[in-house]
Amino acid sequence: MYLINNFVMKFFRNTCFLLSLICIIAFVVDRSKADALQIVYPKTPNTEISANSTFIVGNATPGSKLTINDKEVKVHENGSFVEVVPLKDGFNRIKIESVDGLEHEILSYIVKKVPPKTLTVTDKDLTEFAPNEYIYAAVVKNNTPLRAQPDENSKRLTHLNADTVLMLNGKKGDYFRVSLTPTQNAWIKADSVVNYSTINGKMLAVASDVNVSEDKLYEYIRTSLDFPVPYKITETDNGLMLNLYNIKANNADTKLFAPDETLKSLAINTVSSDNVSTYFVELNQNLWGYEAYYEGKELVLRIRKAPKIDTAKPLNGITIAIDAGHGGADYGAIGPTGVKEKEINLDIAKKLQKTLEASGAQVVMTRVEDVDVPLYERPKVAKKSDALILLSIHANALADGANPYEKHGTSVFYYNKESAELAKVLRDTMIKELETRDDGVCNCSFVMTRPTMPLSVVIEVAYMIHPEEYTLLLDDKFRNKAAESIKDGLEKFLLNSVNSDNK
Ligand SMILES: [Zn+2]
Repeated sequence: MYLINNFVMKFFRNTCFLLSLICIIAFVVDRSKADALQIVYPKTPNTEISANSTFIVGNATPGSKLTINDKEVKVHENGSFVEVVPLKDGFNRIKIESVDGLEHEILSYIVKKVPPKTLTVTDKDLTEFAPNEYIYAAVVKNNTPLRAQPDENSKRLTHLNADTVLMLNGKKGDYFRVSLTPTQNAWIKADSVVNYSTINGKMLAVASDVNVSEDKLYEYIRTSLDFPVPYKITETDNGLMLNLYNIKANNADTKLFAPDETLKSLAINTVSSDNVSTYFVELNQNLWGYEAYYEGKELVLRIRKAPKIDTAKPLNGITIAIDAGHGGADYGAIGPTGVKEKEINLDIAKKLQKTLEASGAQVVMTRVEDVDVPLYERPKVAKKSDALILLSIHANALADGANPYEKHGTSVFYYNKESAELAKVLRDTMIKELETRDDGVCNCSFVMTRPTMPLSVVIEVAYMIHPEEYTLLLDDKFRNKAAESIKDGLEKFLLNSVNSDNK
């Protein structure tokens, strides 16, 4: 009995050992198989997409044969592949098959094509407030957008500072309608305002004590008001136009404004029927950044003076803010072999910092390691350091429905007209030096392009999901070249400005 038992125990022990060994070997084989074919996009094998096509981005063993839905797809030298797959309504099965000698692997992705989400705000949702009664409210936070329509995707008309007093005359969905003039309305998110009170008749402010002053970097135009009113700044051909709303009268004496090196003229025109006071600011220079803010009840319009450029060393003494896009938990785009955009951006940003500093510039970085930096904090870093220019470094990707073989290359984004020339010169210099496809200059609204101070652009060096460009982005030499081309572009832009300023 004992002997039998011992034998049985030994048998079981050996079998268990053998079985676990097989399990380990199987696991290793399975791992190497899983490593041989990887899909980085779509992120999960079951997804919903509303576009007419998607793309499969991933990597396979270099030299292996890859088919997607039985169509052969090129596997690049580093294993990358990207394939556009058209989608029909409903469920689409995408079969990805890799053959590498005896290794054969098939992955299945199910993509459901769903109709696009549409936002409908119907007229019956509109509540009109009593015609002669106005509801007043104060804006909660700085930089709150005032929009053309009650929809978060609608155009931003202007941004408001905290404590700005608004006159509300209606409500639709989650938005209040804001009266700017008797004929012009705008919309604000209802949770962006507080402290309502109903007042009979209009509450209008008197503007007074308008004065102009300057310091080393900025020109200031200050206006005292009874309470903070909404305003809008528009770039004109020769400066700025500032509209102050809900104004009863402006006591400014424009004869007092003597022109200086920056300011050519300041004219103020107040139309009482519209309750709008308009400031026409004409400058002796190009726009190099501007903003308005309240100091208590005083509105300050701050205009950046043209920099003094050393033509032999244009970047000398110039402060440049560099933002390495994404970071921390925010990866940005992911390339076919799994490298994250945040890593590429940070490396180019650091290389750019080095070359700019070597050229005499002062550089401020929004991040120097792999950390989370909230998006809205990034422009603040630039402004706080009085940077002249803010560059946000990215590598591009596309949304479903686009074709990465048709749309790729280098592009630069700007939003405000004052930054258009900078975007153009950077794009021109980069495509020339990097020999990348021209993906254009885009007038696009982003957190990193919207600041009016400093001049702000987003640089998309190349595409993470274009296999050849991805290979370039992984190459240290190319990233160095990218940093050099951005520096060269900046120098060109600064030199050109010497001729166009003081026009
Ligand atoms: Zn990005």
